[in-house]
Amino acid sequence: MDNKMKEQSGNKMTLIVPALSVNEAFVRSAVAAFAVQLDPTVDEINDVKTAVSEAVTNSIVHGYDGKGGEITVRCEIAGGGLHIEVSDAGVGIPDVARAREMFFTTKPEQERSGMGFAIMETFMDGLDIRSEPGKGTTVTMSKVIKRDA
Ligand code: ATP
Ligand code: MG
Repeated sequence: MDNKMKEQSGNKMTLIVPALSVNEAFVRSAVAAFAVQLDPTVDEINDVKTAVSEAVTNSIVHGYDGKGGEITVRCEIAGGGLHIEVSDAGVGIPDVARAREMFFTTKPEQERSGMGFAIMETFMDGLDIRSEPGKGTTVTMSKVIKRDA
């Protein structure tokens, strides 16, 4: 581990934004900008951006059903990677295992395809979903980005 890595480890940031679709692009770019200090490849950055977009979109369209609310995004650099938490205080998910299944969606009429969690799982190295109906949902994802190993 070189000095740069040491300094970055533990670096973090938190964003709190209203659940507006315009903030999907903002959060995606902000997380990408934060991740740059890890010297990621273009592929790694694109993976992170895609996963963050899916999580934020879910909070907007499912968590708050397009009616607003707040989304909190936390990022931290630790253990040679980037850890991201996207949380909402929305309706929550009654059956997380079911929601994680590919093609499962509760909004087929909105042309949702039930791919979001599958995409997060594929593009990231870790995905954890904690949810409580009526209280909200927290999606935790991590991406290994190690340049100096
Ligand atoms: P797509 O992501 O392909 O547009 P989708 O959003 O329905 O479709 P997923 O992102 O995989 O698919 O989510 C699956 C289901 O989990 C959703 O249909 C919804 O019922 C539930 N869900 C996901 N995120 C949340 C959330 N933040 N709050 C409440 N329910 C959620
Ligand atoms: Mg989705």
